[in-house]
Amino acid sequence: MNGSSKATSQRSNAYSVMVGDIKITAILESYTESPPGLLTGWSEELLQSRQAESLRGLAAFISINCFLIEIDGRVILVDTGLGGEVTAATGRLEVELRSIGMELGDISHVLLTHLHADHFGGAISEAGICRFPNARFLAHRAEHDYCFGGNKPAGNPMAVQQYQFAQRLRPILSQFDWVEEGQIIPGVELVHLPGHTPGHSGFRVRRGQDSVLLWGDIVHQPHQQFADPSIGVSYDVDPAMATETRRKIMAEAMVRKDLIAGTHTDFPAFGRVKAEGDGYCFVPLVWSSAINKALAV
Ligand SMILES: [Zn+2]
Ligand SMILES: [Zn+2]
Repeated sequence: MNGSSKATSQRSNAYSVMVGDIKITAILESYTESPPGLLTGWSEELLQSRQAESLRGLAAFISINCFLIEIDGRVILVDTGLGGEVTAATGRLEVELRSIGMELGDISHVLLTHLHADHFGGAISEAGICRFPNARFLAHRAEHDYCFGGNKPAGNPMAVQQYQFAQRLRPILSQFDWVEEGQIIPGVELVHLPGHTPGHSGFRVRRGQDSVLLWGDIVHQPHQQFADPSIGVSYDVDPAMATETRRKIMAEAMVRKDLIAGTHTDFPAFGRVKAEGDGYCFVPLVWSSAINKALAV
């Protein structure tokens, strides 16, 4: 080895916590540069000056996380990431699942927070074949009505582009069940968080007094959007409703001291929300080498 490691990726891109006897594992599927013009609601100059103040580098990067829920003998995946080419930084779902002893065929359910490409892209191969042969897919019924209900959306070009990407799921729609708010699997509740898309959702995993809320696209750039929840993204189908939902769920998470994790919260994704200034800040769980119970605070 001559004293230098040739590794180009981290040893582990998976991080687990326990909620009661339920193991929840965050998996960093991709870490990639944020698309230009992603954030909306404020001038580009102000957003850039805030980015500079954050000392995170001038190019904003984005975590794309998936979550594995091991509950009552089931193995449930929340979102599938971008998919595509496997590199040191992207397309890593299958690699990371293997690192924790799981195969794609072990997944019994795939829960999708919504039908944007960075959430369902890993579900299908280049040839349009489902990569989860033994899984039922669950998503909110409003996503079906929006993407496959026959009315092509107009307006917001970024949202229309995502709608067009979602058509790639048509070959595997027979594996889908369309659901609504409430318990969808014992121990797992769908929480409707509309605005970003009509059926955009989170999933609350609960055991007794312990719970974690896994949300989709409430934030894309956590350091900007927790501080100022009025900042949206160009992919929002209904920007006003998305902002209202973001404000509401952040306030609720703060008051309840909920453990939360998001598709785009900085890996290892888990943390809590506290008030700061006119907005909030995200307090990440500190990395532990042991798999700990996510204690109430
Ligand atoms: Zn989205
Ligand atoms: Zn997303």
